[in-house]
Amino acid sequence: MVPMAELQSVLESITNEARELFGQGQVANYIPALEKICGKQFGVAICDLKGNIYQAGDANTNFSIQSISKLFTLIQAVQIYGEKLWEGLGREPSGTRFNSLVQLESEQGVPRNPFINAGALLVCDRLESRCSAPNFQLLNLLKSLSGNQQLTVNQIVARSELEHGSRNAAMAYLMKAFNNFHNPVEKVLESYTHHCAIEMNCIDLVRAALPLANQGQCQNGDLVLTSKQTKRINAILATCGLYDEAGEFAFKVGLPGKSGVGGGILAIYPGHYTICVWSPELNQAGNSLAGMFALEKLNELLHFSIY
Ligand code: GLN
Repeated sequence: MVPMAELQSVLESITNEARELFGQGQVANYIPALEKICGKQFGVAICDLKGNIYQAGDANTNFSIQSISKLFTLIQAVQIYGEKLWEGLGREPSGTRFNSLVQLESEQGVPRNPFINAGALLVCDRLESRCSAPNFQLLNLLKSLSGNQQLTVNQIVARSELEHGSRNAAMAYLMKAFNNFHNPVEKVLESYTHHCAIEMNCIDLVRAALPLANQGQCQNGDLVLTSKQTKRINAILATCGLYDEAGEFAFKVGLPGKSGVGGGILAIYPGHYTICVWSPELNQAGNSLAGMFALEKLNELLHFSIY
């Protein structure tokens, strides 16, 4: 364990350095409502296994969790389906962009993994089959895991994405053509975009992800996942959580992680901490530029790495 005072001072110095990178990336613009976010923001939070929080910068500012929601829909689907979830869903890194269609066609509608858009849409399809109110249920899971009952969905972002979601619709229809998608596409797209538009801050997210650092156990002792399921989800995060930048992330950061185009990256240091960084300007791969830098620094300065 890193002494509290040292951890706090490292977070503050990383925040100062990360702010110098403002202007080097670009805020996501393919979802018009996200383009309006001010890019010059940076926040970081860390939670230890006892639930202590360390934070710096804009750690209390809410942002659109976007693809970080894919981690929580996966947790929900693993809880409901267990091993059966993997029928028609892979666990290999894709090496392609998060919203690429190419592989899906050549691999008969079986998405490479649950963290690219096609895989997450499939997970939402499976949830639609078993949940009476998927939107409500995911938000509830996040409220209970984060301990924040005030979490909300930004309806403007959800609508904006739905109106500009042709690629996601194309993926879902392609899977349907291969008999690997069971519910009406429009219905599943609606819940998928709803999940992506949930707003949380770095502190909410490190709290919500804590079971992944603690063998599936919540702060109050409840088991969200078994320790085997937890290990496996962390393995998929490590190999697939940052799309075609997963190798680079392993190389520089060395932790299981999940990014979103809202600029958040949630990382797990099993047995130690959960970490969330947020800065809206993205690099070429669609991952937070300053966020990647900050996590790399944590590895360098405090040896946060599973390798
Ligand atoms: N809502 C976004 C989309 O489907 C999520 C992508 C992301 O965060 N990488 O395109």
